Amino acid sequence: MLKITAIQLKEAMIEAGISFVPIRPCSICEEIMGFVRRSDMLFIDSSCGCASSQPRRVPWLCAEEFVNEQKDNDAIRAAAARFGLTDIPEPIKCPQCGSNSVSGRYAAFWAPLDANGEDPADFHSHASSAELTDDRHCGACDHSWSLDDEVSDVPVPV
Ligand SMILES: [Zn+2]
Ligand SMILES: [Zn+2]
Repeated sequence: MLKITAIQLKEAMIEAGISFVPIRPCSICEEIMGFVRRSDMLFIDSSCGCASSQPRRVPWLCAEEFVNEQKDNDAIRAAAARFGLTDIPEPIKCPQCGSNSVSGRYAAFWAPLDANGEDPADFHSHASSAELTDDRHCGACDHSWSLDDEVSDVPVPV
C-alpha cells in the first residue's frame, strides 16, 4: 500500500494554494465538513447547518491518517490529490514476483523500504552514516537485483 506523509500533504497543500479539503458530509444536514488550512496550520472545521463550532487546530498527522486510511492505492491517490498531491510514484515491486516487500541494501545490511522505494524516514536516525545502495532484495521470492539492471532493460528509442 502507498503511504503518504504529513509533510508531503502539507507542502502540496501550501504549494497548490488549497485551503479546504472535504472529509465527509454531516449525516443530518449534509453540509461538508473538512480540513481547513491557514498558513501552515491545519484545522478541522466540523461546523455545519445543525451545529456551529470553531475550527479546531489538528496536527498534520490527521491529514496523513485520513489519506492513508483509504481502502486501496487508487483511493489513497484520490484523497492525496484533494490536498494537491498528485505526483506520487508507483510503489516499487519485485520484477520477478511482483511483491512489494522489497528491501534496499545499505553498505552493510538490508533494510525494508517504504512503498515509494525509499527508506523509512526514521531509519536515518539509526544509521546516519550508511548509504543506501542500488541493490534491492525481494522478501517474498528472495530475488536480488540492482536498480542499474532495470534501467538497462528500458528500450532505447531509435
Ligand atoms: Zn449538520
Ligand atoms: Zn520477488
